[in-house]
Amino acid sequence: MKKISLLGATGSVGIQTLKVVREHTDQFSVAALAFGKNIDTALPLIHEFRPKLVSVKDKQVADKLKIQLDDGIRLVYGIEGMIEAAVFPEADFFVNAVLGSVGLEPTLAAIEAGKTIGLANKETLVTAGHLVMKRAADFSVPILPIDSEHSAIFQSMQGQDRSAVSRLILTASGGSFRDKKREDLVDVTIKDALNHPNWSMGAKITVDTATMMNKGLEVIEAHWLFDMSYEKIDTVIHRESIVHSLVEYADHSVIAQLGLPSMLVPIQYALTYPSRLKLSQTKPLNLWEIGSLHFQKVDMQRYPSVSLAYQAGKAGGSMPTVLNAANEIAVQAFLQEKIAFLDIERYVERALEQHQLIKAPDLETIEAVDKETRAFVMNQIN
Ligand code: NDP
Ligand code: MG
Repeated sequence: MKKISLLGATGSVGIQTLKVVREHTDQFSVAALAFGKNIDTALPLIHEFRPKLVSVKDKQVADKLKIQLDDGIRLVYGIEGMIEAAVFPEADFFVNAVLGSVGLEPTLAAIEAGKTIGLANKETLVTAGHLVMKRAADFSVPILPIDSEHSAIFQSMQGQDRSAVSRLILTASGGSFRDKKREDLVDVTIKDALNHPNWSMGAKITVDTATMMNKGLEVIEAHWLFDMSYEKIDTVIHRESIVHSLVEYADHSVIAQLGLPSMLVPIQYALTYPSRLKLSQTKPLNLWEIGSLHFQKVDMQRYPSVSLAYQAGKAGGSMPTVLNAANEIAVQAFLQEKIAFLDIERYVERALEQHQLIKAPDLETIEAVDKETRAFVMNQIN
């Protein structure tokens, strides 16, 4: 029995993680569960999965939830609460599906506590990949990718000679606006941006797929997870989202992982690795029903966010922290109708331009840069 501690339980990945748990109650249980403020979604999940610890965003939410919780459940809140969930002694597997760089400290704490990590929270690796991977190596803790592209790469590396990998190729759907030209993006709305052709996901990541900053973040995520230089990481637009990513080897043989788009597969693979289990909630892939698969080069003029991410990643140090923090704030401002869609990448670019690179930042520096960048972008917006 694997006992899971789950951060971000009320989110898109969190709920799908619980769907996997629900299908295999003989294999998995939930020891600790953390969410933000969505009590309505969380309460039935708490009643169903009966975790021993629940963590929420802040004291206000905790006070509201307290009167509705059974005795015997420990209720905590804030970043300390998330950390307590991450290191909860009764859990052996930590799924980080929280949104944004708030997931960093819980991940670091879970590594030190020796938990196996299933990581959906890509912002953690973008903002401080060097710290996370070093700590994981120091404590011999596996970090198993949940992001579908990285899971595909991980799956395509099983049983292979890792030293012979010559290139990682991340596929991208192109997002909600892939059939629009740049000049058509001037007045697109939130509703348009949230209308993703292939995947149903949380609001922030759906906007990130529309700017394709998501692919940029994933390039940096791949750099850290697989210890690959940026020169060896490519992206390709693949509108059907059937090929989830590919690995090229020294002999130019390319191995890929395919399937109908569903996050249940990478979530379950992380939970069961290196075994595989049945997954009745997904459908088999019949290629004759798909007909054709398309691939297209990513145009960096059309999607400047991808280029910004490569630049920040290659610069290294504190630059990816700035990229991520500026993007989090800009996307939030777009979702609050404070800025236009095309402004998102402008604010990110401006934040990167004003930042003085700090090489090899420690945790304290990362957190300071994250905070300063958020304040800088908010100031610019207001
Ligand atoms: P959602 O917005 O759907 O969910 C975010 C979750 O995090 C919610 O449970 C939310 O709680 C919780 N949360 C947010 N802020 C806080 C906070 N300060 N304290 C505690 N909990 C908080 O996001 P997604 O599920 O879409 O994405 C989660 C992560 O997974 C992201 O890093 C994303 O990039 C990554 N990912 C997502 C994919 C997807 O298919 N959705 C695919 C690949 C990666 P509440 O709502 O209760 O406030
Ligand atoms: Mg992805």
